[in-house]
Amino acid sequence: MKRREIVKVLGLGVAAAGLAACTEEKKTVAADCAQPAASAAPEKPETIEWKMVTTWPKNFPGLGTGANDLADLIDKMSGGRIKVKVYGAKELVGALEIFDAVSRGTAEMGHGAAYYWKGKTRAAQFFAAVPFGLTAQEMNSWLYHGGGMELWEEVYAEFGLIPGAAGNTGVQMGGWFNREINGVEDLKGLKMRMPGLGGEVLKRAGGTPVLLPGGEIFTSLQSGAIDATEWVGPYNDLAFGLYKAAKYYYYPGWHEPGTTLECFINKEAFEKLPADLQVIVRNALRVANQDMLADFTAKNNEALQQLVNEHGVELRQFPDDVLKQIRALSDEVVAEEAAKDPMSQKVFESFVKFREQAIKWHAVSEQSYLNARTL
Ligand code: CA
Repeated sequence: MKRREIVKVLGLGVAAAGLAACTEEKKTVAADCAQPAASAAPEKPETIEWKMVTTWPKNFPGLGTGANDLADLIDKMSGGRIKVKVYGAKELVGALEIFDAVSRGTAEMGHGAAYYWKGKTRAAQFFAAVPFGLTAQEMNSWLYHGGGMELWEEVYAEFGLIPGAAGNTGVQMGGWFNREINGVEDLKGLKMRMPGLGGEVLKRAGGTPVLLPGGEIFTSLQSGAIDATEWVGPYNDLAFGLYKAAKYYYYPGWHEPGTTLECFINKEAFEKLPADLQVIVRNALRVANQDMLADFTAKNNEALQQLVNEHGVELRQFPDDVLKQIRALSDEVVAEEAAKDPMSQKVFESFVKFREQAIKWHAVSEQSYLNARTL
């Protein structure tokens, strides 16, 4: 379904719901519902102006444009009643300052990824990406139908924020290196940009994880401030020109198997919205969440071919042994991180339980089919 059509359907749904409520109400309270046609000059509804701060460079492919699309969708779905102005990193606040900015009400919305906030609340990391965790499809299932969303809301409540999934990258790439990775020992001493739980695993393997916003990666890699980096996937990595500063491009992104991007909303601002606009904002997020994954899936292969064929990038798969060893380290590290506070443990238990059933079901469905397709 095209976005335009989705907007139409949701818009009609909301209108129908409003009508039903009014009809229902008419039985008991006639006054409000009896009059609308008579008081013919409808008041122009007030336009609500919101700001959305993002961790992405303005208009950055997939991520920044995903934030723009979300703002546009909210505008159209609300019939122009909510206008959201999008700010790129550093335009209003720094990339990693958006969480605090929305929490204190400087902006109403923030677009980023939850693992950037592990210094504020460790449990946040589970809502972005977990090494050897859930794929995009599984993340959405856990969030929407497996109790994940309720837990995320609980984690952000103390900051006065309402979280929402607002995009997904799908399986990311393993990253850019100037040395071959033939064993886990090759990660020793490696200073690598890697956020979240993946970074903790890298640390356990003897490397040094560095947290850098996207816009600072290329210069850090080129200047040698970091030895290696991961970012997202071919579509995004090509846009940053990372191939100019590293030779080997490894896969798969064991550390980010289906990263959820987020859009969190200042709770007070959200609760001031009339009920129909709250429904519209929540559903705009759901559309944006799905659409970003479709965008990445459509664009990544073309970018990958360009990297390999035009820019001479050496594409390498992590050896099985390396992946097995990193998986064992990941299991240890993630469980230990979770045990550091009760909220992280609570989220981890829900996540692990969901992953167990996802592994079982996907072994006979997605995994089995993907294998069959390339036999
Ligand atoms: Ca990444």
